[in-house]
Amino acid sequence: MEEKEVYYVDVLLPLHLPGTYTYRVPRELHDEVEVGKRVVVQFGSKNDKMYSALVRRIHATAPKWRAKYILSVLDEEPVVTERQLQFWEWMAQYYMCYPGDVMAMAMPAGMKLASESALSIHPDFDGELSRLTKYELQVVNLLTEHPVMRVLDISRAIGVQKIMPLIRTMIEREVVMMDEELRERFVPRKSVYLRLADNYSSEESQRALFDDLERKKRTKQVEMLMQYLQLSHFGKDLVAKRTLPQTSALQTLIKNGVLVAEERVESRLRDYGDDLTPVTSIVLNDEQQSAFTSLNSGNRNAVNLLHGVTSSGKTEVYIKLIDEQVRAGHQVLFLLPEIALTTQIINRLRRYFGDKVGVYHSRFSASQRVEVWQRTKTREAGRYQVLLGARSALFLPFTDLSLVIVDEEHDQSYKQYDPAPRYQGRDAAIYLAHLWEAHTILGSATPSIESYHNATTGKYGLAVMKQRYGGFRLPQVECVDMKQETREGHVHGHFSDTLLTAIRDALANRQQVILFQNRRGFALRLECDDCHHIPQCVHCDVSLVYHKASNSLRCHYCGYSIPVPAECPACHSTRLRMVGVGTERIEEDLQIHFPDARVARMDLDSTLQKNQYVELLNDFAERRIDILVGTQMVTKGLDFEHVSVVGVVNADNLINYPNFRSYERAFQQLTQVSGRAGRHGDTGRVIIQTYNPAHQILQKVIDNDYEGLFCDQDNERRVFRYPPYYKLIEITLKHRDSNVLNAAADWLAAQMRSTFGTRVMGPEYPLVSRVRALYLKTITVRFEKNENIAGAKQLIMQMADDLVKQEGWGRVSVYFDVDPM
Ligand code: ADP
Ligand code: ZN
Ligand code: ZN
Repeated sequence: MEEKEVYYVDVLLPLHLPGTYTYRVPRELHDEVEVGKRVVVQFGSKNDKMYSALVRRIHATAPKWRAKYILSVLDEEPVVTERQLQFWEWMAQYYMCYPGDVMAMAMPAGMKLASESALSIHPDFDGELSRLTKYELQVVNLLTEHPVMRVLDISRAIGVQKIMPLIRTMIEREVVMMDEELRERFVPRKSVYLRLADNYSSEESQRALFDDLERKKRTKQVEMLMQYLQLSHFGKDLVAKRTLPQTSALQTLIKNGVLVAEERVESRLRDYGDDLTPVTSIVLNDEQQSAFTSLNSGNRNAVNLLHGVTSSGKTEVYIKLIDEQVRAGHQVLFLLPEIALTTQIINRLRRYFGDKVGVYHSRFSASQRVEVWQRTKTREAGRYQVLLGARSALFLPFTDLSLVIVDEEHDQSYKQYDPAPRYQGRDAAIYLAHLWEAHTILGSATPSIESYHNATTGKYGLAVMKQRYGGFRLPQVECVDMKQETREGHVHGHFSDTLLTAIRDALANRQQVILFQNRRGFALRLECDDCHHIPQCVHCDVSLVYHKASNSLRCHYCGYSIPVPAECPACHSTRLRMVGVGTERIEEDLQIHFPDARVARMDLDSTLQKNQYVELLNDFAERRIDILVGTQMVTKGLDFEHVSVVGVVNADNLINYPNFRSYERAFQQLTQVSGRAGRHGDTGRVIIQTYNPAHQILQKVIDNDYEGLFCDQDNERRVFRYPPYYKLIEITLKHRDSNVLNAAADWLAAQMRSTFGTRVMGPEYPLVSRVRALYLKTITVRFEKNENIAGAKQLIMQMADDLVKQEGWGRVSVYFDVDPM
């Protein structure tokens, strides 16, 4: 075969840079380069940095400048497919960023080896040195001496210039690992566990202990001890302290040395749940069957919306649909808004499809992610056919995708806000399915206005399920008028008598309770009684939020924190008080009203640690928790058998949030959280506390009137020119000097107006107009739905490029949010 004289490759770098870069291929690598393989290239002004870049194109056209050579080819097989590259390019174009931004996010960290990458010995490396080559041994020796080293420094130290292929193999064999992964994965998580003191290990000694406590009439301690013994299977297992009610009886038992508290590192990668008994067949009821048939009847390349009330059994319908594809040897992508909350679905799918199910999400370590990546791409044994994940699973290297399911399609968490690409996972999923000519199913009990609009106009197919599975009724939703209740003296702190009584009844019947407190703008703040000053963040335009555990005031935007001041910083008054209600406060107050109940809290603060949510949900499922208090995390997709009461502490701040989607969202959140009640019984009760019980949204939630909500909202969107009738692009500018920012924003808006006229709105200050010491301004452009705006987007990006080239504006940062939520 005749060889071409000179070969070039255009490569993509995982950096915020436009386009691709051309390199020359040395003759000895001609046979190895292939689109989708990683190659090592030098990049940067000083040429001192090496990156693994992806080959996008191979050609023979010499660039105008002298191209550098690629240094080596890292892969034997392409790691990225042509379709993935097309998907990335679409995403960059649609969401107005660079393909490099998409690549940086799409590829697992473990695959983005660069000379700046820091390496360490893999904690699982068995120390077997005889398996290593001479150079590998040198690397291991170096890393034993210096636990963290950059690739570049290793290369210098052992005098091997082309070190990347060597490192790549060592990473793959888990001899070394990238340090960012190390930090991410091996954070030990400690918890306090209780065990029975050694001198109570025998049955006699336990009996003696009980006799003694009973004689002294310490009934609370006796009860607590019984509870402990039950949970610990009579002292056989450790019991996490947090799973017991935090009463003084418990404290006394610990103080008196009956129970011993020990801090332990919890297993880091606990499996999801326990019950993995395989299920082989599902029998759909009539309504599910007809939904299934209608979803299956359209053409393969269609988008269908499954609108099924909460607990109608959408998952079972999905499973049937997935099953067909799996049997035919295809792959299915199952997207969820937040993987953290869906361990239940993982279990259900695993029971059905066993080890064909791969789970992918950002809470996994880099090496786990690389493994899922590889098992998605392979066509050999161990291949995953059902890929389950949050939006990042869109970027997996599918080989044969035939069905994409987007569950809870209305959920805001599908939107990525930061960093670029700022994309909508549901919409990107539809495009991905289109690339594969695959079938798309969007499912929800409360569809987004956009999706339902598409279903009513015939763009999407529609299947409906109106009944709960098993014939259970939807919960009864009631509003408590807090104004009236307060007037009549029926409010205690944040709770009305109605809610308290409902909780009390549920607990008496050994049922569980979920309480929802949206914390947005409503967390605890410190306010001066005399001058009404509220301490603000020094870097951001927001008030600081009180955190009890650290007794500090903290900024939720930038992390700035100060100790709680003793006097008002403005007027020196000492009369400071807390205003607002946070989840922490609700949790505490509940404990006062129900001292014997086991209360737990689920929000961002309580689940920051990996897998903590798994524990919480397991504890709740196994009834070691009676009342679960939480932010919107508790509204989603959970299926618990014994929840009979759901309480919404304050619905008003949900409804009054200033955004064109706020009514839609309030309806969705309230309906979704209500849907957690009475899923396996007829006793579900939902109590919504509000100062405005006549509000149209609350009425629609009570009547479960989605259609009514849709008609109103769709109409408003048309009249006020919002999606789905119009497309919005929001441009944000940032700079630390507000004068510079204003001038730049005005300039850009004027440029845009000269081309797009009255479609341009702003510039204006956003709700929070300063974050991390940078001022913010936004400009919004509004296009009609059917306008082709690919060209407009390019033009806008060009204007932004021109802006930063102007004198004094080099440090203005400009970014785009297409279809802002
Ligand atoms: P949704 O996702 O619509 O809220 P789920 O799929 O969680 O509802 O279903 C609610 C409950 O009903 C689950 O516990 C599920 O296991 C059960 N269920 C639904 N359909 C069936 C079926 N066909 N056979 C057995 N159990 C079912
Ligand atoms: Zn003051
Ligand atoms: Zn701040």
